[in-house]
Amino acid sequence: MHYFQPPVDYIEPVFRPPSEADSLIFQVTNGCSWNRCTFCDMYIDDHKRFRPKPESDVLAEIERCGQVMPWVQRVFLADGDAMALSVRRLSSILEAIRTHLPQVRRVSAYCLPVNLKRKSVEELQRLRELGLTLIYMGAESGSDNVLAAFDKGETFESTAEALLKAQKAGIKRSVMLINGAGGRRYSDEHAEASARLVNLTQPEYLATLVLFFRRGAEQRVRAGYDGDFEPLDAEGLFREMHLLISATELKQTVFRSDHVSNALVLKGTLGRDKARLLSEIEAAVEWVQQHHIPMRQQERF
Ligand code: SF4
Repeated sequence: MHYFQPPVDYIEPVFRPPSEADSLIFQVTNGCSWNRCTFCDMYIDDHKRFRPKPESDVLAEIERCGQVMPWVQRVFLADGDAMALSVRRLSSILEAIRTHLPQVRRVSAYCLPVNLKRKSVEELQRLRELGLTLIYMGAESGSDNVLAAFDKGETFESTAEALLKAQKAGIKRSVMLINGAGGRRYSDEHAEASARLVNLTQPEYLATLVLFFRRGAEQRVRAGYDGDFEPLDAEGLFREMHLLISATELKQTVFRSDHVSNALVLKGTLGRDKARLLSEIEAAVEWVQQHHIPMRQQERF
């Protein structure tokens, strides 16, 4: 594997999905254009306030990378929602990648549902033809109650619409859900509505992580639930995951629950591996009960 410090100016911190560990990252924007989700502390610092990077700077960085690391095959466009950029600007970035990094086979980016609202299927198709083949969408939940409490700025409908639009354009979708997002009160609703969301949209990839709190997030999340938020313990998290998986009707979705926040690592393809995944979760519930583990997710961090 090549390791090379890319000639790119980053405004730290830079986040990327685990599966983009080997990708070259171009930070085409700084921060997140929404930046209000109560649980998210990724871009809350002043220096991470949302702003597109000047196009000329991005294009120059792509050209410089092409000169010194022409072997690159995967590119990730950061930060939180590179898809906030206009189709024109994204096209110009993708064309530059194609010109200067001709070995690139996959360009991906985080994407908020709202980022796709003003982009037509035809425009998305054009972006896909230029190399943008995968988007990561933090749906978090299919429950409108949970999304409202999180101040996500999206609904079941807006998320489903965006995922289906990307699908029509031939762009692969990686959807993220948050285990424990609804606390005890909305746990069942969260699992069932999230299953409905993925059943309707059939994403190519599905990942879950566990809700965890840092940098004042617990207070913000609690405030979103009007103080009525009881975090799930380990058994509650596993039971919610069981309900989610059992309610899924997926044809061919690669499922990963292996983020560092997960106490139980689950991997498989849904629906093929549904029965195995459910029995692994059942074994975990049994284990937690036998060992009387009162673990609360925020105590693990
Ligand atoms: S949209 Fe994503 S990056 Fe932006 S605040 Fe919400 S979770 Fe964080």
